[in-house]
Amino acid sequence: MSPLTRTDAWQRLANESWDLLVIGGGATGAGVALDAATRGLNVALVERDDFSAGTSSRSTKLIHGGVRYLEKAVKEFDRSQFALVRDALRERAVLIKIAPHLAKAMPLVTPLYNWLQVPYFMAGLKLYDGLAGKANLAPSRFVDAKEALERFPMLKADGLRGGVVYYDGQFDDARMNVAIALTAQEEGATILNHAEVRSLLKEDGKVRGARVYDRLGGEEVDVRARLVVNATGPFSDAIRRMDDPHVEPMLTASSGIHVILDKRFSPPETGLLIPETEDGRVLFLLPWEGHTLVGTTDNPADIEPHPKATEDDIEYVLRHVRKYFSVPVERSDVLSSWSGLRPLVSDPHAADTARLSRDHVLNIAPSELLTIAGGKWTTYRKMAYDVVDKAAELAGLDVGPVRTADLPLVGGAAFSATGAGELQERYGLDADVASHLHYAYGDRAGQVAAIAQSESLSARLADAHPILEAEVRYVALEEAACTTVDVLARRTRLAFLDQEASIAAVPRVNELLGDLLGWDEAQRDADRADALAYLV
Ligand SMILES: Cc1cc2nc3c(=O)[nH]c(=O)nc-3n(C[C@H](O)[C@H](O)[C@H](O)COP(=O)(O)OP(=O)(O)OC[C@H]3O[C@@H](n4cnc5c(N)ncnc54)[C@H](O)[C@@H]3O)c2cc1C
Repeated sequence: MSPLTRTDAWQRLANESWDLLVIGGGATGAGVALDAATRGLNVALVERDDFSAGTSSRSTKLIHGGVRYLEKAVKEFDRSQFALVRDALRERAVLIKIAPHLAKAMPLVTPLYNWLQVPYFMAGLKLYDGLAGKANLAPSRFVDAKEALERFPMLKADGLRGGVVYYDGQFDDARMNVAIALTAQEEGATILNHAEVRSLLKEDGKVRGARVYDRLGGEEVDVRARLVVNATGPFSDAIRRMDDPHVEPMLTASSGIHVILDKRFSPPETGLLIPETEDGRVLFLLPWEGHTLVGTTDNPADIEPHPKATEDDIEYVLRHVRKYFSVPVERSDVLSSWSGLRPLVSDPHAADTARLSRDHVLNIAPSELLTIAGGKWTTYRKMAYDVVDKAAELAGLDVGPVRTADLPLVGGAAFSATGAGELQERYGLDADVASHLHYAYGDRAGQVAAIAQSESLSARLADAHPILEAEVRYVALEEAACTTVDVLARRTRLAFLDQEASIAAVPRVNELLGDLLGWDEAQRDADRADALAYLV
């Protein structure tokens, strides 16, 4: 989306009458906008920060059924939990198909140091394969200690009996979120980031729109819609209170942190599932974007826009890595850390947030405000069509069949797995840069490489990373990036990968964006200050 398209979208937002107005541009809201647009509805989406600025950029980056949820299903013999895992495993295959540049299958090793664990994990992971049915990525299997160590050489060898190798999906969550929003736009939706809902509009007691504030331009407009969908994740209750100040809260939140370590802490293509933490959960250690991602935690938390990882949380994660690793891991090895909030559907009687339901809930208020919350990243598509089905029923709208299972996301349609080599040759790129552009932008990578060549923007934004200055221009013009943080955190992932390098890149990103968008000195200063406040 170019800056011009933004002005245009802002005008349309105010002037048109919409079938659906979606509040929130995370995976869920973007998914609803895409589903609605592809089924013939006139839909607008507003996001108060950036697409994926909330929980959706802060996940473990796994597209999965959830081995932990499967364990829970078995222990509690809960059929609905089995169904949740099965549905998510089917979605896993769909997402890898529609976004082959951003998502892929990845093997994970579960190391076992006790023979008694072997039948337990083997049976569990075979059940996981079985639930996936035809959508299974590859069969899980037992490997002896030697092969477990070959696959994951950082593991402690002493006492290792073997491991189970199984497969799940891995993805770039924020870029996938942006791709869903951009695909919705290509299908006719109007999408706007940095546009905040400040109050709801009512007619005869029914919610029929919202007052939306442009956080970049300072303007405020009334947006009229037949129905309003609240897809604000952990913030759902705040929107529900705009409708009814006395409404019972629906959600609690739990925080989960991740840390990023150098790539030497994981092999390039295999992840590790630490099967049991001190608090009876699992922990993942995964190769991601040329680094190692470790997480997560699960602690009751306050709901706030920018939660941060605490030192205690970071130490918790490192302690578990040390327990399983033969190589030392120090606090100074942590390149960055972040925290995300899980929106959990509340059960007032549950003391432990890990026990609350991960399934989604669709709540319809007497005012017809639809709230969709909970679920998982993996199941955003399913959540989206549930909402659109319900909205169509409620408002008597005619909708076509669900099309999103076969609709490639932006960048996916003409993606070829072997394209990085061609890109490298054609534009004379370094191999790591070609690979990064290929997987981040899919079939549009050539457009970024062409900007690098023609506009002399082929320098890296940070020496140790394959991210080019040309990307700043491309994502501002084509992907609705409006601020330095949008570029560093959600279009490129530098802010998540390397805090120091990201801080060092702020002045250059700010300069490039400021020149492109015609910022005055005050705007440049404000953007730089926001970026540093976010990153430090
Ligand atoms: C630590 C952690 C790890 C996870 N790992 C995984 C995983 O590996 N795989 C998986 O499938 N799931 C995972 N999940 C779950 C998954 O990330 C979430 O279910 C999903 O991202 C929720 O998306 P959402 O769109 O509902 O919420 P969000 O992404 O939080 O989006 C809500 C949006 O609403 C916006 N908003 C709020 N108020 C307003 C307003 N007034 N006006 C306009 N916009 C507003 C916010 O800015 C935000 O962008 C994980 C969650 C956590 C916390």
